[in-house]
Amino acid sequence: MEESVDHPMIRPSINAVAKTYELAISHPELAAVTSPFTGERISRFLHVSMSRDDLVLQNKMQRRLGQLTGTCFQRCVGMDAFNSLYSVTYEIDEKYATGYHQRLKDFLHLMHSQNVVVGGAMTDVKGDRSLAPHQQADPDMFLHIVDRTEEGVYVSGAKAHQTGCINSHWLLVMPTMRLTEQDKDYAIVGAVPVDAEGLAYIYGRQSCDTRSMEGGDMDVGNAKFGGQEAMVVFDRVFIPHRYIFMDGEYDFASLLVERFTTYHRRSYVCKSGVGDVLIGAAAAIAEYNGITKASHIKDKLVEMTHLNETVYGTGIAASYQGYATSSGAYISDEMLANVCKHHVTRFPFEISRLAQDLAGGLVATLPSEKDYHHPEIGALLEKYLKGKADVPTADRMRILRLIENMTLGRNAVGYLTESLHGAGSPQAQRILIARGMQLAYKKRLARVLAGIETEENKEEVMEELSGYFARVFNEEV
Ligand SMILES: Cc1cc2nc3c(=O)[nH]c(=O)nc-3n(C[C@H](O)[C@H](O)[C@H](O)COP(=O)(O)OP(=O)(O)OC[C@H]3O[C@@H](n4cnc5c(N)ncnc54)[C@H](O)[C@@H]3O)c2cc1C
Ligand code: SF4
Repeated sequence: MEESVDHPMIRPSINAVAKTYELAISHPELAAVTSPFTGERISRFLHVSMSRDDLVLQNKMQRRLGQLTGTCFQRCVGMDAFNSLYSVTYEIDEKYATGYHQRLKDFLHLMHSQNVVVGGAMTDVKGDRSLAPHQQADPDMFLHIVDRTEEGVYVSGAKAHQTGCINSHWLLVMPTMRLTEQDKDYAIVGAVPVDAEGLAYIYGRQSCDTRSMEGGDMDVGNAKFGGQEAMVVFDRVFIPHRYIFMDGEYDFASLLVERFTTYHRRSYVCKSGVGDVLIGAAAAIAEYNGITKASHIKDKLVEMTHLNETVYGTGIAASYQGYATSSGAYISDEMLANVCKHHVTRFPFEISRLAQDLAGGLVATLPSEKDYHHPEIGALLEKYLKGKADVPTADRMRILRLIENMTLGRNAVGYLTESLHGAGSPQAQRILIARGMQLAYKKRLARVLAGIETEENKEEVMEELSGYFARVFNEEV
């Protein structure tokens, strides 16, 4: 096969990215913006949020694309890399009089003029998780600078789980974690074209992925759309100065990771769009099985919807409670973004459990599409896989396969495992929720109402709003 994009395992992920362009054409108010650099219409995925409306519309676009594809459409990591780098480069320049912000704007201009796909590469392979980059037995466990010339730097290492990288035109590499002075060479942010010399892609396996190579379109469950991840290996990849947006400013690495995850954790409202599809599939199989009137079935669909809307509610609230950074870019609320992502690490698993409950055991034991098309066996399956008399057996099989695809198969990668680990594993959110929970303030509220008099609660508690509660009670919103 000459074109890797035509490989049956890869094609569904291309279709998912293509949908982002299609939506920009059919619904430009949702998925397109006018570029501030070129004045042309471009994908919203390339636009830095400059208002609360921008943040909110990113979320609405993500939910819609989740509904249309039932999978990961792969472009939000790059979008949130731009969102976060916009303010971080501005602040590095303020401190060190570097020129990163203008370089980033020039790079954005270039991306806007081509309306291309940019992947965000933050996660390193990390080796021994208890050690900092410079302490690792192998220095390549984190991407780092291995050489310098007058024109730029050479980097080596690897980025893991890279979503949509085969479908991207450029990759934005960023550090994964807080760095110290000894990790200075690891404090590198830069852009590389995906076909740069020294880059290699090792494609990730997904559950049931070879079904797409068996012909037919039933057993794959979702024949048209799928996600994609690969490991990207960097072997002395050159980054010229004009595409470098951090070089050695290790003290800004944690700020970048925090800003990126604040944007990206509310981007996980994408899963509420995917959840809409799964809830629909569960309702459809209940109908095909003739059990829609049972009260527990309706209750389970209500529970699935409740969980799904809780994900959406916290994500969209994080965007509505966004605020301006000194660069002018708007960032979502850190607490609510982390709460959204933390819900996502759990609720899709419960929604999947309920979908499998409604589906019955056939979701895991259904005979193959080839058997269904077999002249003798097919007749048996047509007879014995029948649910309600007026529903074609093939329709029942297709919905069961879709539920399998989303809860056990290819798209369970996006709906379940990516929900758990993408944008950080659950503990990463709990750390930030703990950091913002303002227990001292809450204890004072309690002491005042309980009538416990202390020196500290004599003054009005409300007058000292800071952090999360300053945003909650911001009267300008
Ligand atoms: C489908 C998918 C797509 C993804 N797409 C992208 C992408 O496009 N770009 C990108 O940059 N990243 C991407 N990621 C990466 C994602 O951000 C990471 O998976 C996540 O940060 C967790 O890292 P890890 O997978 O290395 O797990 P680990 O870090 O190994 O975590 C495993 C467990 O160990 C715990 N742990 C880890 N370190 C420590 C420690 N020091 N002390 C105590 N406990 C620890 C964690 O809390 C977790 O419970 C993707 C991931 C997935 C699954
Ligand atoms: S997991 Fe969701 S937020 Fe991340 S790239 Fe895929 S669709 Fe976008």
